[in-house]
Amino acid sequence: MLIAIDAGHGGKDPGAIGNGLLEKEITLKLALKTGVYLRTHYDCDVMYTRNRDVFLSLSERVHMANLAKADLFCSFHINSLNADSEGFETFRYPGTTGETAVLQQLVHSEVMKVMNNFGIPDRGVKQQDLAVLRETVMPALLTETMFISNPDEAKLLKSETFLEQVAQAHAVGLAKAARLRDKDENRYYLVTGTFATKEHAEEQAQRLRDMYGWLIHVKER
Ligand SMILES: [Zn+2]
Repeated sequence: MLIAIDAGHGGKDPGAIGNGLLEKEITLKLALKTGVYLRTHYDCDVMYTRNRDVFLSLSERVHMANLAKADLFCSFHINSLNADSEGFETFRYPGTTGETAVLQQLVHSEVMKVMNNFGIPDRGVKQQDLAVLRETVMPALLTETMFISNPDEAKLLKSETFLEQVAQAHAVGLAKAARLRDKDENRYYLVTGTFATKEHAEEQAQRLRDMYGWLIHVKER
């Protein structure tokens, strides 16, 4: 399973600008955080159309994903209009049904759980003829995470922990669409000992790692 992650804009194209923020920087943060979460929590491969501040045309982005035979495509953008424009919205190609509609619905509803916690309104599950949605051969989705032009939303977009939550929600939605199982689900754990100090626990953990090659974690309870 290969998931293509597309950070909108980049390089000479900053995207929307407002309240001290550049769209291209936020989309890159969201894209990278989403990819890291997917790789950490699921058995899947992730490809980025860009993982740094570089310009790519829309057709280059599409070409990369098509060539790599990605199974799903997710493009990240931030909206801009007026100071009082607000909310989260997602797009799929007009008239698409099946897996594309399911992908959009799953990511949309996961991200809206985060938005609801911050009182960010739902602008809806929408359809639009956009190049990255039209020319990709796999189910594709584009998300517009709030408005850079709105000072209150921009404040949230400046928070790394907020972006982390939004990225995680994208990752969970993508994973559900790809029917990936969380690595931590349905696992059995063997507790090997309890220790009075962390140092002692780490010492014993290292001994077991050396002895058995097991993945050993020291956890505080
Ligand atoms: Zn954009």
